Amino acid sequence: MKTLQKGKPFYAFSKENEAKVHVRTGERVAIETYDCFEDQIQSESTTMQQLDWDRVNPATGPVYVEGAEQGDVLAVTIHSIDIGAQGVMVTGPDLGVMGHRVDSFSVKVLPIEGDKVTFSTSLQFPVQKMIGVIGVAPEGEPVNNGTPGAHGGNLDTTLMTEGATVYFPVFTEGALFGLGDFHAAMGDGEIGVSGVEVPGKVEVTLDVVKEQPIRYPFLQNDEGLAILVSKHTLDEAVKVAVEEMIDFLHPHTDLSLAELTMAMSAVGHTQISQVVDPLVTCRFFVPSSFLEAFNCTPFAQNKN
Ligand code: CA
Ligand code: ZN
Repeated sequence: MKTLQKGKPFYAFSKENEAKVHVRTGERVAIETYDCFEDQIQSESTTMQQLDWDRVNPATGPVYVEGAEQGDVLAVTIHSIDIGAQGVMVTGPDLGVMGHRVDSFSVKVLPIEGDKVTFSTSLQFPVQKMIGVIGVAPEGEPVNNGTPGAHGGNLDTTLMTEGATVYFPVFTEGALFGLGDFHAAMGDGEIGVSGVEVPGKVEVTLDVVKEQPIRYPFLQNDEGLAILVSKHTLDEAVKVAVEEMIDFLHPHTDLSLAELTMAMSAVGHTQISQVVDPLVTCRFFVPSSFLEAFNCTPFAQNKN
C-alpha cells in the first residue's frame, strides 16, 4: 500500500495543485496529516500572535486517481483513522458562536489515552474520531481549505469517520483528492470553532464511479445516506439539501413527488454539520431502511 506522508501540505483545493502521488481506481492508500494548526501548538501558553495563520487547515495531497474525469464521482471509503496522543482546542474573540462573549484567545492541550480525551481533572470525553477537511479540486477558482463546498473541503461533519464512504463530484482529471483536520471529538455545529484537533493517519480506498454526475457530496454509512450542503445560511443549506436529496432519490422509487415528500417528512432527518466556517454545512439524512425498500444502491453501478 502506498503511504503519503504529511510533508509539504496544501492550503487550497485547486485544479492547479501538483499531484503528490498517483493511484489506480480501487487502490487503498494511507495518508498522514497534520492537525489544523499544522502541529504548531504544543503548549497552552501559545499565543494567537505566535501562530502562523497562513499555515492553518493544511491538507495532505493531492492524490491523482487514474481514470477520474469531470462528471464522474470519486468514492472514498474510510477504513481506519489513527490519531495522535494529544489534541488541541482553541477559541477566542470573534471565533464561533460565543466569540462575542469570549474576551481572549484560549488554548487547551488535551491528552488522549485509548478511547478517552481528558479535558480537565473532572471531565473526560469519549474519542469520536472524524475528518474535518476532505475533498477534491473544485470546479472553478481555488477554494481555501477553511471553506466547505460542492468539492468537499472543510465540511466538519461528524459522520466523516471509519466505515463511511463519501462521494465527491469530480471536476478535473484525476480528481486531486486530499484531506486533513482530523478531530478526536467534535460536536455537531463545532460551535466554539474547533474540535479536539489532532494529527493522524487514515487508510482510504479511492474508487472512480463513471458517469454519475452529482452536485454535492454524499456520505453513506450503515445507518443511511446523507447529502452535505454548504451555503451562506442554514436556511438555504437545508432547503437545497432536502430538494437535492429528493431529486436524487426520486428516480429510484415508484413514488409520486408528493408521496416521496411525505416519506421524507416521516423518516428523513435535517442535521447540522457545522455553523462556524465561512459557509455553514447541513445534511439531510435518509435511513438505510428507506433505500432498502426500493433496492436503491445509488453508487454501486458503474464502478470503474
Ligand atoms: Ca475544520
Ligand atoms: Zn478542525
